[in-house]
Amino acid sequence: MSTKQTLSFQAEVAQLLHLVTHSLYSNQEIFLRELISNASDACDKLRFEGLNNSALFEDAPNLEVRVTFDKAAKTLTITDNGIGMSQQEAIDHLGTIAKSGTKDFMGRLSGDQKQDAQLIGQFGVGFYSGFIVADKITVESRRAGLTAEEGVRWISGGTGDFEVETITRAQRGTSIILHLRDDAEEYLNAWKLKQVIAKYSDHISLPILMEKEEWKDGELINPNDENGGRQPGGMVKTGEWETINKASALWTRPKKDITEEQYAEFYKTISHDHEAPLTWAHNRVEGNTEYTQLLYIPAKAPFDLWNRDKKAGVKLYVKRVFIMDDAEALMPTYLRFVKGVIDSADLPLNVSRELLQESRDVRAIREGSTKRVLSMLEDLAKHDKHDTAANADGVTDVVDADDKAKEGKYTQFYSEFGAVLKEGLGEDFGNRERLAKLLRFASTTSDAVTVGFADYKARMKEGQEAIYYITADTLAAAKNSPQLEVFKKKGIEVLLMTDRVDEWALNYLHEFDGTPLQSVAKGAVDLGTLQDEAEKKAAEEAAEAFKPVLAKLKEALKDKAEDVRVTTRLVDSPACLVVQDDGMSTQLARMLKQAGQ
Ligand code: ADP
Ligand code: MG
Repeated sequence: MSTKQTLSFQAEVAQLLHLVTHSLYSNQEIFLRELISNASDACDKLRFEGLNNSALFEDAPNLEVRVTFDKAAKTLTITDNGIGMSQQEAIDHLGTIAKSGTKDFMGRLSGDQKQDAQLIGQFGVGFYSGFIVADKITVESRRAGLTAEEGVRWISGGTGDFEVETITRAQRGTSIILHLRDDAEEYLNAWKLKQVIAKYSDHISLPILMEKEEWKDGELINPNDENGGRQPGGMVKTGEWETINKASALWTRPKKDITEEQYAEFYKTISHDHEAPLTWAHNRVEGNTEYTQLLYIPAKAPFDLWNRDKKAGVKLYVKRVFIMDDAEALMPTYLRFVKGVIDSADLPLNVSRELLQESRDVRAIREGSTKRVLSMLEDLAKHDKHDTAANADGVTDVVDADDKAKEGKYTQFYSEFGAVLKEGLGEDFGNRERLAKLLRFASTTSDAVTVGFADYKARMKEGQEAIYYITADTLAAAKNSPQLEVFKKKGIEVLLMTDRVDEWALNYLHEFDGTPLQSVAKGAVDLGTLQDEAEKKAAEEAAEAFKPVLAKLKEALKDKAEDVRVTTRLVDSPACLVVQDDGMSTQLARMLKQAGQ
């Protein structure tokens, strides 16, 4: 007894379907992503229920998705052997909107067809996205655990209603049969399907199979004919199946099962970099917001690193389904060089960029990922130089092979990305202290850019109260500045800052670990207790003696200089220019001038 019944869609579904079928799509291929992701979910559900009831697997324990097409019938079919649906489930799940994401989405629709079409393109609307390319969808399914006679066929033309009937279906799971519209016939092509699947579903951990095709020459009709006398050839199905996705969401696998080479290979596929990464971190984060992060630091800066509009390099997945590239909401701008994958279990599949910006979960992910990158860098910094020299007792320190591999990497990282990292001082107040510890500079005792504020502090002279620095265009200019004379004479280290962003970045950093930062080119340099009494006295006397000269100079330079004074900062040079304490530095002034301001 066939029990065919016609049922109406829930009002919201009808409204949604109307939109799906009557709007133009900028992004119609997303239907395949949605349907494959449903197939993958269905397999996940079976896997889960099967934990307590292995009979559900019947005689087909290998879960998979098969994509087939029939050119003559103009159908594209996506079949999975997952949990399947009972008749009631098909009615409930395909006839109503159960998921919150879609309801949110519906709430955002404006009624303006063009605008809404754009929205739909961004969102993807789950199962109903099939109607982007199909004017009729047939779903055949049988739930795991039910008998073959308890299968269901669901058919709809995407208007107000759908039909359901009972069928016999030996195979567990679901087939979604799309009867393609004339304008969607490009999906009756293996190459096109593979391309779309590679783009969106490569990292679904389930194998996606397609039937192999091979070229067959047309039949020989007349050998004397000018084009060889053959009918046109074509691709024919071979009956063999091949897995067309990588079928491994690398980041979902346990760390211990992944080799360094696999991590490096994966990095290359997602970054399009041909070099191996400098380092990476792979973690599952549990708590209020659950996600997996696999974050890489490249070895080399890309040519367009300086473009702050450049998109971040982190891809967002939701439960192994690719959502978007360059998810800028997941990484602050100053970490735009980081590549990787973040896979969240908590975000809806149809999340848009706009929604990402507002999501609390996304904020939590971004903070967690930022901290992770900073700890990766701290770890590299810690292992940057190893004391390989033998100890006094002649025994060489035991150095972990892992630690050894990190040697020199921070210096390498810093020469590629250090300047970008400095942007963080102005961008990420919450992590400013951690960032400050990661900064490195050249100094009057080191041409190499390896001196951190902490190293500097450890070497400070008795009685020294500030961290001294100078900014200049080049290392040579910094080193030869007359402003350094007194510091050299007294053996006080001065940090030499030559990055264009230094000046700007230091506006956001006034001290390090309680010690103020002081530019040697600003105001009166007060060396405090480092200056002995005799020097101070000599300076005061000189100031007195030179009063008339200073007055004349001041008058002569009145349009050019704010003040002229006697200084103790010079040793060999007769004069130097300084800026007032609160003034813009000469370096910054030059930069702004260059920028045309
Ligand atoms: P979502 O996947 O976000 O729940 P969809 O619109 O994509 O929303 O799918 C609606 C529901 O239909 C799913 O939650 C599921 O219950 C059911 N469904 C869709 N495709 C399948 C399938 N291949 N196997 C089993 N159930 C499915
Ligand atoms: Mg879905």
